[in-house]
Amino acid sequence: MPSTRFDIFRYQPDVSDEYYRQEFSLEHTEDATLLDAILDLQNTQDPSLAVRYSCRSAICGSCACKTNGKTVLACTSQLESLKSEFGDDRLAVDPIGNFTPIKDLVVDMEPFWTKFKSVKPYLIPDGPPPEKERIVPKEAMQKIERESACILCAACYSECNSLAADPEFVGPAAFAWGYRFAGDERDGQRKERAKLYSGDHGVWDCTRCMYCNERCPKGVEPRDAIEKLGGIAFQEKVTRDKGARHAKAFLISMRTGGKLNESLLVPYTDPLGAPLDISFAAQMMAKGKAPSPIPHRIKKLKEVQGLIKNVKETI
Ligand code: SF4
Ligand code: SF4
Repeated sequence: MPSTRFDIFRYQPDVSDEYYRQEFSLEHTEDATLLDAILDLQNTQDPSLAVRYSCRSAICGSCACKTNGKTVLACTSQLESLKSEFGDDRLAVDPIGNFTPIKDLVVDMEPFWTKFKSVKPYLIPDGPPPEKERIVPKEAMQKIERESACILCAACYSECNSLAADPEFVGPAAFAWGYRFAGDERDGQRKERAKLYSGDHGVWDCTRCMYCNERCPKGVEPRDAIEKLGGIAFQEKVTRDKGARHAKAFLISMRTGGKLNESLLVPYTDPLGAPLDISFAAQMMAKGKAPSPIPHRIKKLKEVQGLIKNVKETI
């Protein structure tokens, strides 16, 4: 029978305000999951060990936690696979990141739910409801199929670099739900949603680190949803935000020259602030550190323009 050593984050506020770590060792079956192990430890070694869980089938999204620094769903992560992934028979188990622990592996989810509610995660159709049901073509639903699979486990939120830097950032899960409805052809609020999701702490504040896509256990790919929300903001002409202007400067330079024109980025992104950067830009040019302000055109410009067209059609 295999055995695993655990190094588990502990926090028992009834006893002490201090966080600490505790080592455990457990014999288990070959196919035991991390959640099986935590519950076994709770039953046989320390009944005070706290974990949140419910369905044990990757549906309720309650049991996300960190193992050796990576966020996983405890109910679907087999111990033997985790140990071979990390090349270690000892697993460090921690609560999910970007949350405040309440007790051991249980965190305060309130900020996550507040942000979830802030994106209006429900359909807001135009006009009165139809007499019978509203028939939606299969192709239209396929556009939002991935986002509809979100189980709100917060694994993406736990891994998000933007949230680590800015706790007010709305976050990948909420934006995946934002696209779930902004991209639904029955919804009548595309422009309003584009405005709601832009601005401070909005879609343009994502650092594109891609960790949310990497760690989502349901293949939702929330970073892609954020990108699609950016596309909707462009289509709805909600582009006053600095982030949107920055993205637009990329688009203009790719469309006109086929490659990035860095000299366009600062003045286009922040026209009022740009004059303050002129002397800095001049110093960089004098040291040969700034690109030429004369726009460049690549030979295969038409191919780049074709790619841009293709991407536009997929949003
Ligand atoms: S997007 Fe994925 S990781 Fe994020 S909450 Fe939904 S299911 Fe979990
Ligand atoms: S890609 Fe953006 S939303 Fe996803 S984890 Fe990174 S910063 Fe957060």
